[in-house]
Amino acid sequence: MSERKILIAGNWKMNGLTKDAVELSGSIAAKIDVYGKEPECEFLVCPPTVQISTVAEIVEDTMIAVGGQDCHFAEKGAHTGDTSPYMLKDAGCSFVIVGHSERRANHGETDEIVLKKAELANTAGLKAIICIGETEAEKDAGKTIDVCKTQIGGSVPANATAENTVIAYEPVWAIGTGRTPTAEDVQATHKEIRAALAAKIGGEADKVQILYGGSVKPSNAKEFLSLPDVDGALIGGASLKADDFWAIAEATF
Ligand code: PEP
Repeated sequence: MSERKILIAGNWKMNGLTKDAVELSGSIAAKIDVYGKEPECEFLVCPPTVQISTVAEIVEDTMIAVGGQDCHFAEKGAHTGDTSPYMLKDAGCSFVIVGHSERRANHGETDEIVLKKAELANTAGLKAIICIGETEAEKDAGKTIDVCKTQIGGSVPANATAENTVIAYEPVWAIGTGRTPTAEDVQATHKEIRAALAAKIGGEADKVQILYGGSVKPSNAKEFLSLPDVDGALIGGASLKADDFWAIAEATF
């Protein structure tokens, strides 16, 4: 039996105003309260940067952790519009997502950049959720495993541990599309990702959580979350509704 706990993580992306963030985080906290005991999984919400402090205050005395959606690889300086991982930590974060495919595609982030972000995030005391995953063209060319191995090799710090790192496998073509790989494919890919991680950090790879992300919703959550090498979900669209986010978590109870 794996010691890895299931992590249910919501990536709110660039959605909602402060009032929405207050309502959403408050509703998730209320659902945990009503459940009446400590849920069997871990919870994380990643609000837009400007809402982090507000959400962090709301969930302060709950088991819900707060994360940033990205950070810069520099501690401080002339980087207009960017956010240092130290600032995220200061605002109440314990996690940060790095290398999301939307950052890789829209901001030209390479494995080298993602690696530097993950390293500084760790130094700042944040757990880095390092996103990897193939595009549709790469899938069609049968390169899924190769792409994931290259991204693990290039964007995971050499001193990654289960304490400072989570991996999120997110096939780019499954994000926000309603399409997903089969459960069999997800398990096979996660197994290869863990092996690639083990080649880099040794036996510690067995303790690192590997999340699946890409159109996870209440109706398919159990299928993915019961796979032996899937240790949680990174959820976009369905994390914006407290009922759906909670229903996904409930699939693990
Ligand atoms: C994501 O962007 O990380 C994601 C998985 O989005 P969705 O759940 O909407 O596919």
